[in-house]
Amino acid sequence: MTRGDLLKERYKLDAPLGRGGMAEVWRAIDERLGRPVAIKVLANPIAAQPENLVRFFTEAQQLARISHPNVVRVLDFGDADGAPFLVMEFVPGGSVADLTGEPMDPDRAARLVENAARGAAAAHAIDLIHRDIKPANILLDEDGTPKLADFGIAMGSGQEKLTATGTAIGSPQYISPEQASGRPVVPASDVYSLGVVLYELVSGRRPFEADSAMALAIAHVEKEPPPLDVPGIDPELVAIVMRSLEKDPERRFTDGGQLAEALSGSMPAFVPPPVTSVDLGGTDEIAATAAPTRRGRGRAAFVAIAAAAIAIVLLGAFVFGRGVQEERVAAAPRAPGSRHARHEARHSPRPTTSARPVSPASPTTRPSASPTTANQRNTRTVNSRDRSKDQVRTQPQSSPSPQPTATATSQPTSDPSPSSSP
Ligand code: ADP
Ligand code: MG
Repeated sequence: MTRGDLLKERYKLDAPLGRGGMAEVWRAIDERLGRPVAIKVLANPIAAQPENLVRFFTEAQQLARISHPNVVRVLDFGDADGAPFLVMEFVPGGSVADLTGEPMDPDRAARLVENAARGAAAAHAIDLIHRDIKPANILLDEDGTPKLADFGIAMGSGQEKLTATGTAIGSPQYISPEQASGRPVVPASDVYSLGVVLYELVSGRRPFEADSAMALAIAHVEKEPPPLDVPGIDPELVAIVMRSLEKDPERRFTDGGQLAEALSGSMPAFVPPPVTSVDLGGTDEIAATAAPTRRGRGRAAFVAIAAAAIAIVLLGAFVFGRGVQEERVAAAPRAPGSRHARHEARHSPRPTTSARPVSPASPTTRPSASPTTANQRNTRTVNSRDRSKDQVRTQPQSSPSPQPTATATSQPTSDPSPSSSP
């Protein structure tokens, strides 16, 4: 694709916005409506691979199902000489990745992540899990409103069960323990990633850093995040971050909606009961003898098994590019189904989706905030920074495509169903 190309006799490519492993993103002008749009074009050579086509088409369909101010809006879908493209609203303020690197005002960070969580909640409400939430995938509107983007690997919560191998992809800095170890991914997996983003925004550093994607994945599964000791930070906000980073998804906020409510101050952070076991799946004997006091200490056998599980999961799934900065990892799902029943049996009753947790601590008095407040505004303009240069998108192990819909299995031609052009 080059500047000036006219797609579908309507969208004129104007400036490149980003380039990932699978696609290029361009700013373009919709000449019919006279407004800027963003166009994601599946890179030609890769377009030949059916699983990428399906994934790309899936992204269009998933996005088309969501209409929410905190999710990037899909406008159209088409085909340019065999390369499918997705037309989206143009989100001009860069991404949250531009704001990382040094501590942000905690209230501003909380508002940002609260709104991103509302976007995630809109996906969760239709049983869709993003699975790759990270700063680069949270775009910013001109007024600073965050918009969740890049639903390329989003999936329905039941779909892992239908997938033979290797589709649990994510970015190792933000990946949930269950996703890193190939276990079923749930809405709370997105909560974990949002928790990592919030931790990073308020502290200026990520909870886990490592030299390799494997070591990072192991850290997410095994290590406790370092305390979030930011001077003057509201302890309630710390509790929210730490609850989001619980290893056990059932101990986190259930979904984006719950996290957003907690961050808005209308729901207490809720301190979950002490851990009696951390189930990595397949490590029952060890998990069953785990005691809360030894979390993070003296867990040689536990670590060894976790490492072995992740090693199996990651083997053959990584394509190491430029370090681990924006790498994505692919993990092989375990045999599904076995874990949850055992888990339920071991754990004491805990809040469900519908019932708000009762906090043993006093309810928060943090003030609510409107979805977009002045302190979350940022003054950036067009995102000229090509962050996706750093990205390496690994292929899923062996084949299988994300679960396609009936229409997704065929090569998209112009204007397949997700089209919602105005
Ligand atoms: P990838 O799968 O390559 O990561 P993304 O959908 O995350 O693809 O897009 C890559 C980059 O392109 C983003 O980080 C952002 O900089 C830019 N981008 C994507 N969508 C938009 C959009 N709707 N508006 C403005 N920029 C966008
Ligand atoms: Mg992306």
